[in-house]
Amino acid sequence: MNRIPMRNPIAELDGDEMTRVLWKMIKDTLLLPFVELNTEYYDLGLKNRDETGDQVTRDAANAIARLRVGVKCATITPNAQRVEEYGLREMWKSPNGTLRAMLDGTVFRAPILVRGLKPYIPTWTRPITIARHAYGDIYKAVEMEIPSAGKAELVFTGADGRRICKTIHEFQGPGLLMGMHNTRASIESFARACFTYALSLRQDLWFSAKDTISKTYDQSFKWIFQEIYDNEYKDAYGKAGISYFYTLIDDAVARAVRSEGGFVWALKNYDGDVMSDMVSTAYGSLAMMTSVLVSPDGCFEYEAAHGTVTRHYYRYLKGEETSTNPVATIFAWSGALRKRGELDGDQELIGFSNRLERAVIETIEGGTVTKDLALLMPGANAVNSGEFLDAVARRLKEN
Ligand code: NAP
Ligand code: MG
Repeated sequence: MNRIPMRNPIAELDGDEMTRVLWKMIKDTLLLPFVELNTEYYDLGLKNRDETGDQVTRDAANAIARLRVGVKCATITPNAQRVEEYGLREMWKSPNGTLRAMLDGTVFRAPILVRGLKPYIPTWTRPITIARHAYGDIYKAVEMEIPSAGKAELVFTGADGRRICKTIHEFQGPGLLMGMHNTRASIESFARACFTYALSLRQDLWFSAKDTISKTYDQSFKWIFQEIYDNEYKDAYGKAGISYFYTLIDDAVARAVRSEGGFVWALKNYDGDVMSDMVSTAYGSLAMMTSVLVSPDGCFEYEAAHGTVTRHYYRYLKGEETSTNPVATIFAWSGALRKRGELDGDQELIGFSNRLERAVIETIEGGTVTKDLALLMPGANAVNSGEFLDAVARRLKEN
């Protein structure tokens, strides 16, 4: 069989545990027989992060920025137990946190839909992508317990000495206080990432917040989105036949439930946290969620939404058979290869990515699934990870 050449490389970020095992199996079974893979390889496995003083993670982020496309395997974020388990020199930071900070990105999560795996909301026949702002608000808040009666004030002291002060509340007794912030730069880059991503999917973009109550904070988010849309994206959206609109979060929730899906929903940090759990649960399974980090200047890093599936890995190490679902990791690869194809104008590579995804979906719809999905699809045939990948490869060869 003639393998498809790749004109330009993508950054390949290997990872840990069960997903590292699947990573190799996916490459051997579904990629290398069909594509002359052209990647810059970075081993983000915990051992190598430790040995390189985490330099490999920073190198990988720079490679994604340079090549514009990356694909990442799930990685361990070390805690005290992992430091012990791997004999680490340091409790290294979350690789995803490092990549996000360096690429200045926003995370988009979307479910992979298959017939037979029913969403809990039956009208959701197309995916809803959640775009979550990943900076500030309550995640960077300063909190205080108020012990007794007294006056709470909000004070800003400018670098030039200017002072602005507002009374928050005259406490008559004990209570609670919280101060939170965001920055104009972060909100602007969030907005651009959302506009760019929805445009790349050719789907409408919704943004919702609570501007009727939060007349300065949330309203500023709303105006920043509107300003960037009007100045930078309106024409391109018109040409693509898609639209952007802002609506109050209450209204957005009601509309989302009544919708068919098929849009990108941008949300502030806390709203995105809550809504992405609601949306992913309603669609069925974490192992069927894709995740992509998009930077405002259009770099794309694809991964699965789940972790390294440690429990399965320990069983694998004991030589037991495992049925870990590789679908989200396969879709990370197909997403990255398709994006490479789009950037290079390479129809063959785009075609391969589409065929690979179709082969996965048809395999599942044909009733061959990993254990996690067998529980959700009565009558399906549960197989182990290797058998599932072989079944996908057979379909891919037929297509
Ligand atoms: P996890 O790896 O997502 O797994 C949690 C559980 O969800 C699994 O034990 C399994 O349930 C089920 N599951 C997840 N993915 C699955 C798949 N592909 N196929 C079948 N079942 C799947 O989360 P975790 O156990 O909390 O975290 C493990 C490690 O992953 C941690 O070290 C964490 O730091 C890391 N992590 C990395 C990322 C990332 O790199 N993006 C994200 C999250 C967590 P059953 O055991 O019931 O079958
Ligand atoms: Mg959450």
